[in-house]
Amino acid sequence: MSVSTQSNRLDFLNDEIQRLKDEHLYQELVVLESPQDTEIILSQGPDQKQKKLLNFSSNNYLGLCTHPKLKQAAKKAIDDYGVGAGAVRTIIGTLDIHQELERKLAKFKDVEATLVFQSGFLANTAAITAVISQGDVVISDALNHASIIDAIRMVKNIDKEIYAHSDMAELEKKLKATQNHRRRLVVTDGVFSMDGDIAKLPEIAKLCEKYDAIMMVDDAHGSGVFGSRGQGTVDHFDLHGQVDIVVGTMSKAFGAMGGYVACTQAMRDVMINKARPFLFSTPHPPSVTASCIAAVDLMSSDNALNEKLWYNTRYFKAGMRSIGYDITSESPIIPVIARTSEKAVQLMNRLNDEGIYARAIVFPTVARDKARVRLIINATHTQSQLDYAIEIFEKVGKELNILP
Ligand code: PMP
Repeated sequence: MSVSTQSNRLDFLNDEIQRLKDEHLYQELVVLESPQDTEIILSQGPDQKQKKLLNFSSNNYLGLCTHPKLKQAAKKAIDDYGVGAGAVRTIIGTLDIHQELERKLAKFKDVEATLVFQSGFLANTAAITAVISQGDVVISDALNHASIIDAIRMVKNIDKEIYAHSDMAELEKKLKATQNHRRRLVVTDGVFSMDGDIAKLPEIAKLCEKYDAIMMVDDAHGSGVFGSRGQGTVDHFDLHGQVDIVVGTMSKAFGAMGGYVACTQAMRDVMINKARPFLFSTPHPPSVTASCIAAVDLMSSDNALNEKLWYNTRYFKAGMRSIGYDITSESPIIPVIARTSEKAVQLMNRLNDEGIYARAIVFPTVARDKARVRLIINATHTQSQLDYAIEIFEKVGKELNILP
């Protein structure tokens, strides 16, 4: 089929593409031609050549993207309910399995209620816009996720305070300075996705208690990873009841898709009535919801994958340290700092030559002198895959003078 000739009214976008290319910020998509697993087939480069690689870039922490129980649940839900929800939830789009997932998630997270959204991004939008409005202030960690930043931008006539990353003295200063505001919301990621460090949640909780501020944690990378059964960083620090709002995603460790807000029943009710992503966008299809239920059931009943994830993480970090890498991360997210973006891209390309897929992360996502290759360990990596990666990191690290 031929494509109609288009007008030239969008040609100005070519200038934007050139600008991104000039600044080495232009990205091409790499295309996965196999399931999301530790061994993948990618087509990449201008000729889209297929290549088998070991995957060290996926947020599929527990390997649930391809878990038989989640796949089976999705297939059954299609047979039982069809493929779409058909309407927004306030009209006729709320299925009994949507409510079942929210009840199970609330139990799993040990909170009064949860509300599920189409993504973690939208869950942050819904949570932040539900609790703050004109005259309030949001106090946010400098390295918080883009969805938090965007959600804060959406609320009109509020004040914004950004504290230096995990700097508790600065957070306290900002809490002291904003005592005349009607309401204060302190918001932080639970696990920071670039360095793999955990927020100082016990200290933040104490400060929120002292200054009577609402506390919110975006636990996208903590969900399914931290806590005795993967309930997240709040469970890890045993802060149940002290964090007012927790956002999680089901698009990473849960293996499927979606976000949720874990909160009080009142906040859930307000979001049902006011949150725009809830009111004006159709919810998950039955298959996704059923996969998420299967993920919660699995995590609630069996801890083996979480234990394997942490075993693999410790094993890999120890191996990388033994060959000279300075690994400070506290989670399965492991940055290998190359400093310049040029070096980080070189490292990524050399790893790729050797059969390892790990993305370089450069400015503006991280500071100009902190360009890196970011690795994410999964429960489904085998010991021989981890050993091979360590061997290649030693070889390539020396070659590129990243290792002495
Ligand atoms: N918060 C954080 C900290 C994240 O890393 C992400 C995903 N990159 C999100 C929110 C958004 O989650 P989702 O992919 O489910 O929209």
